[in-house]
Amino acid sequence: MSVSVTEAGPPPLLAIRGLSKSFGSHHVLRSVDLDVSRGEVVTVIGPSGSGKTTLLRCVNFLETYDGGSIRIDGAEVGFSDGEGRRRRGERDLARMRAETGMVFQQFNLFPHLTAAENVMLGLRRVRGKGKAEARSIAEHWLGRVGLGHKADSLPGELSGGQQQRVGIARAVAMDPKILLLDEITSALDPELVGEVLDVVRSLAGDGMTMLMVTHEIAFARDASHRIVFMADGAVAAEGPPAELVANTAGNERLGAFLARFR
Ligand code: ADP
Repeated sequence: MSVSVTEAGPPPLLAIRGLSKSFGSHHVLRSVDLDVSRGEVVTVIGPSGSGKTTLLRCVNFLETYDGGSIRIDGAEVGFSDGEGRRRRGERDLARMRAETGMVFQQFNLFPHLTAAENVMLGLRRVRGKGKAEARSIAEHWLGRVGLGHKADSLPGELSGGQQQRVGIARAVAMDPKILLLDEITSALDPELVGEVLDVVRSLAGDGMTMLMVTHEIAFARDASHRIVFMADGAVAAEGPPAELVANTAGNERLGAFLARFR
């Protein structure tokens, strides 16, 4: 994939500033600043427990945050705009979440619904689509992830890789502004990882904006525009993959982390 994101240009699609979050006395995010531009693919790497998943969950407001700001296309994620920082209502929250399609490690498909029905659910309930239109959008995206022939299968009839591809279809069918991918290959047998990463690569090639937490360092290196290295709840390094991987001299933690994958 060519790397063509420039420094100057339009404001970032996702702008995170001074984000902080604690669980009790455990300070998990410590003033995180991170931008993602439209069409950019950013991967977040780092040791277990460094706050990567919590960061993604804050962007989708599955977690509240204590301080700082997360803006998507200028709109604050956690709060309706206005002086009072009023929390969003449930319907408003569902609509906002649809702007940030999330794909989870454990697929999170409804086991009693077919692949197509899993994809249709949000389209009907959140996007207000009629049944026929929702079905047609679901078929389109299932086809796009190579599962057109599995539309009427239940998740239990699909392999892990296929289930995860349904998860991706479900997220992109909502036409989100940004796709959030949280270790989406971690629960898969090694031989199923490739088919899922191929789908991600292909969506990236179409210009989908993505923020992705991954342990697949080789994938991060060849499929993302920028890698962000998190340690202890903060961004400890970031840059284009080749640069980041080549310049570990001044950053001991990054060097030690990457050495584990050599
Ligand atoms: P990573 O994705 O980098 O492995 P996480 O964001 O999952 O890190 O977790 C960061 C830290 O926050 C960990 O120490 C984890 O135990 C803690 N944590 C995450 N979620 C919760 C929660 N709901 N309650 C309490 N602690 C949590």
